[in-house]
Amino acid sequence: MKTFSLSLPLLGRRILATKADSPAPWLRALRRGLARITGFAPGFLSFSQFSPSLAGVLPRSWRLGLAARKTPDPSHPGQRDRLLQQAIDRARPGVQQVGSVALVGAGPGAKDLITLRGAQRLQEADVIFYDRLVDPEILDLAPARAKRIYVGKAPGCHHWPQEKISEALVAVAGRGQRVVRLKCGDPGVFARGAEEVDALAAADIPYEIIPGVTAASAAAAALGGFLTERGTCDTLVLATGQTEKDAGNARWMAQLQPGTRMAIYMGVGAAGNTARALTEAGMEQQVSIDIVSRAQQRDQVIAHCRASTLLDTIETSGISNPAIMFLTRGHAPVSEQQS
Ligand code: SAH
Repeated sequence: MKTFSLSLPLLGRRILATKADSPAPWLRALRRGLARITGFAPGFLSFSQFSPSLAGVLPRSWRLGLAARKTPDPSHPGQRDRLLQQAIDRARPGVQQVGSVALVGAGPGAKDLITLRGAQRLQEADVIFYDRLVDPEILDLAPARAKRIYVGKAPGCHHWPQEKISEALVAVAGRGQRVVRLKCGDPGVFARGAEEVDALAAADIPYEIIPGVTAASAAAAALGGFLTERGTCDTLVLATGQTEKDAGNARWMAQLQPGTRMAIYMGVGAAGNTARALTEAGMEQQVSIDIVSRAQQRDQVIAHCRASTLLDTIETSGISNPAIMFLTRGHAPVSEQQS
């Protein structure tokens, strides 16, 4: 049975409604909107969890109850520090027991694209540190008692520095808690996993890495195509648009040999540099560009262009971050491939 909750902050408590059928899209949007406006994250404590005995008495379609758990605003910096302290304090003092950390790939922002193993770790979690771009509904997989701590890095917003995230993982797991570090896509692709794993290894905390669907895979599937194609693309390069811009361009340009597809992450902001670099290298005719914004999400946008029309395409088609930009250089110029 699918359930959903509608929540409102009320004197530090929430009213929850649970319906037996899956929610209408407008209700889901309302719930998210309310959460955004009020600063309270949507809650997912169902009535039956709150009061199993009463839940059976109420009409099947709608059940209403008061829940005692207040859901914190995930992005408030003070709130994050407080949650972290609570997570550390919750371990029983004097218990010398080491917990563990699972670095879990949450996939590209659609809750049904997490792996079963990742979902299982969430179900077992005491504390979850999660990133921006993770579908918030994935957090529903964790038990209500699990602490959820938002450590995402939104451009221009206050966020925890990477060292603080690593320290927090060590501090919480070091007190015996089972920690999930939930990262968008795959934890091994442009996700700074190495820094976290180094800190855990240095503190002798057991960890595991659970792969996820990386954005390039999600975007290729959204395009109805494949990352590699026999005879056309036998080399796949994952690159980031966030390196030192010009040096980065020069480096990846050299790799864009015939038969190569390059998936550029975080590349929208540097699209002007990309277009210029392709044009200056005389690759306008060789390279086709496909962009997928918010791949596998409800508001996914797809666009196709060449270097000369890249900026216009981004401006007019509603492309924005997060997006993957594929540069594909086949064995023949684009014009010949299309004829
Ligand atoms: N670890 C992630 C990448 C994190 S870097 C992974 O494996 O996918 C963040 C970048 O990932 C974004 O700027 C964007 O380029 C890409 N990205 C993440 N989710 C995406 C999505 N749903 N659609 C398109 N690109 C996405």
